[in-house]
Amino acid sequence: MKTLLLTTSEEDILKAAEIINNGGLVGMPTETVYGLAADALNPEAIKGIFRAKGRPSDNPLIVHIADINDIDKYGLVREFPESAKILAEKFWPGPLTMIMPKSDSVPFEVTAGLDSVAIRFPSHKGAQALIASSQKPLAAPSANLSGSPSPTTAAHVMKDLAGKIGAVIDGGDCEVGLESTVITLCTNPPTLLRPGKITLDQLREVLGEVNLSTAVLEKLKDTEEAPSPGMKYRHYAPKAKVCLVKAEDKAFYDFVNNKNNVLALCYDEDTENIKIPCITLGKKNNYEEEAKKLFAALREIDEHEDIETVYARCPDTDGVGMAVYNRLIRAAGFEVIDLYEQ
Ligand code: AMP
Ligand code: MG
Repeated sequence: MKTLLLTTSEEDILKAAEIINNGGLVGMPTETVYGLAADALNPEAIKGIFRAKGRPSDNPLIVHIADINDIDKYGLVREFPESAKILAEKFWPGPLTMIMPKSDSVPFEVTAGLDSVAIRFPSHKGAQALIASSQKPLAAPSANLSGSPSPTTAAHVMKDLAGKIGAVIDGGDCEVGLESTVITLCTNPPTLLRPGKITLDQLREVLGEVNLSTAVLEKLKDTEEAPSPGMKYRHYAPKAKVCLVKAEDKAFYDFVNNKNNVLALCYDEDTENIKIPCITLGKKNNYEEEAKKLFAALREIDEHEDIETVYARCPDTDGVGMAVYNRLIRAAGFEVIDLYEQ
């Protein structure tokens, strides 16, 4: 299959909507990461998403809408909780996904058999135009091969999925760079399942009490059931092994500088002190910049030859830092070296 590279022009959006309405798959720009979109009400199209990505079939998808009234229009939920209305008012359109009790209209394949459905109203104009033109809610996980870093450019999507999907709409670099914040309203109080640009503090400001799922910052025990199936899987990993390093500046430099075949994932301020190859995530303590650059950096690691291990500086977990930490710790398979303790 030839994968068309489209723009966000009206004509190209119509072409992409036609692909969706014929049961096909389209790489869709959003403000978080690129999504792999299909008609959420067409089970065969949804199966195509899982096939193209190699995604485990028990990992449910997020349904994207382009108007809050789409929830009623397509009958997506059994109940639209008051807390969801309050959050929608404050954060939609934007990088927040809300999990609510699902209706029978949402196919089994979308929610992987769960009784709840994840819904998001993205702010990216390209995504909104595609959803509105196809006149369908669009199920869309990140448009990468399962396990590899999420795509933040149309070129990343092409690299992973060219030949397997109908088209990619190039809507430029993703503004946020990390996937949406995911909160479930099916627990009381609500629970943050995946951190993102919308922070735990912002959610608490609006809702009062919000729990933080332990799986956000820690590895699930083998006996624990994942509150969100996606938490179980290794994610975002380049080919080289990634390891997080908790250390003061100088201790980090001493640790990496005497090693061979390693690369440092660090900050602009570090580069003059680091003698091995390095990739920076921008200035220190600028979590939003770090978020935006992280996935492209993880992909870039694969372009360096002979790198066996990547040592990454460990971000703090306050604000958007929690989202960066959550992705990095998964890329590292939860491997952390703590030089403060040695
Ligand atoms: P992705 O679209 O690849 O960014 O992944 C969506 C994330 O949302 C995954 O971690 C899913 O496991 C999670 N998710 C989607 N629907 C639900 C649901 N109904 N309940 C819990 N987690 C969900
Ligand atoms: Mg994903």
